[in-house]
Amino acid sequence: MEENTAAVPQESRQPSAHDLEVLSRQLGRPVRDVVEIPARCVCGNPLVAATAPRLSNGTPFPTTFYLTHPVITSAVSRLEAGGLMNEMNQRLTGEQDLADAYRGAHEAYLQARNDIAGRSGTGAVPEIDGISAGGMPTRVKCLHVLVGHSLAAGPGVNPLGDEAIEAISEWWTKDRCYCDGAWDTAGEAPSRDLSRHGPQGLPEIVGRPAPVRKAQSTTPAEEGNA
Ligand SMILES: [Zn+2]
Repeated sequence: MEENTAAVPQESRQPSAHDLEVLSRQLGRPVRDVVEIPARCVCGNPLVAATAPRLSNGTPFPTTFYLTHPVITSAVSRLEAGGLMNEMNQRLTGEQDLADAYRGAHEAYLQARNDIAGRSGTGAVPEIDGISAGGMPTRVKCLHVLVGHSLAAGPGVNPLGDEAIEAISEWWTKDRCYCDGAWDTAGEAPSRDLSRHGPQGLPEIVGRPAPVRKAQSTTPAEEGNA
């Protein structure tokens, strides 16, 4: 398996204090256990946060790549609302080449998580061996997870994540900055975590429908974030 093919060089994967503040503004809550920034806007702001596969409280955490940019998050939510996941799931049952490539994406996800575990010092997390996220390897349950993976891995690794990125090009493309006005930059960054924590130990933030501007969502875990 190849090492990461993403455009972000190793030295800029390390989250800076500024990155963590931007992430907390993007998400409307403080971030924890973010160990790398695997994808960035052309302006340098984070698009995706990589969370350690074991949280500092000991909880295993399979969802490594979290999409954080509100413009992309809400664009992907539009795809979900439009039924793209149903269409993809049907194709996965009928198109063997796609199913094989998607299983490959699952394997790549696990490999990338192992690599991150190694770099971040988390070590092996046997509780989540073979468990990826987003419905992989056979289903699509959360497009945000797949897009987060595709942005982190670069094109050609996750076929359905790549398709979803193509499908949001009306709202977001990688060659332009969409950060201006996408989140609240005034005042203090969120320092209190008001969101509800899912069973995996972190708020379920990936599937939320709209850009995060003000209030925290206290909606219980939506389906499809695992
Ligand atoms: Zn930007």
